[in-house]
Amino acid sequence: MKIFCIGRNYLDHAKEMNSQVPSEPMIFMKPQTAINNSNEIYYPAFTKDLHYELEVLLFISKAGKNITLESASSYYAHIGLGIDLTARDIQTICKEKGHPWEVAKSFDNSAVMGARLPKEDYNVEAINFQLFLNDELVQNGNTKDLIFDFDQLISYISKFFSLEIGDVIFTGTPAGVGPLKTGDKLKAYIESDLHLNLSVIQ
Ligand code: ZN
Repeated sequence: MKIFCIGRNYLDHAKEMNSQVPSEPMIFMKPQTAINNSNEIYYPAFTKDLHYELEVLLFISKAGKNITLESASSYYAHIGLGIDLTARDIQTICKEKGHPWEVAKSFDNSAVMGARLPKEDYNVEAINFQLFLNDELVQNGNTKDLIFDFDQLISYISKFFSLEIGDVIFTGTPAGVGPLKTGDKLKAYIESDLHLNLSVIQ
């Protein structure tokens, strides 16, 4: 399986990062060893600036390539929430050098994933999702604000990569990303349901 992540897919987050808004989806990938299905976030020794990015996930349920926009929604049956952990200090160095991001984005346990939820239970064009850090609201997103919506992402990704059953797409983070420290507690809600309940450990 493969994990796709989309960078700068909410205008307010692109602005907070002082990044240009992309004209096409910006894709990077994480390996299977990045998956973390536990309730603990592991703070890696190689960074001093580990950031959370709360994102809506799409779980691919049908294999395909060169998928049309019209058929894209039939390629995922479940959604969920996840956290794209980012070593921001290392990412900044990568950006400055024009190097790939993998060491800052794709390390072990960097893809925190919650349970799968049937997509029929949601209006995927307007899902409200929120992250609380130590009981303070830090991210408040809605998929209506996506620059590239779910169908556009699936269609675009499948031009380059065959999608396989089990692949996951992290669809981008809204504004409010920030640093974590050991002992922090994170709670993520999809609509009014608690979906992730995490602690940061060393
Ligand atoms: Zn992200």
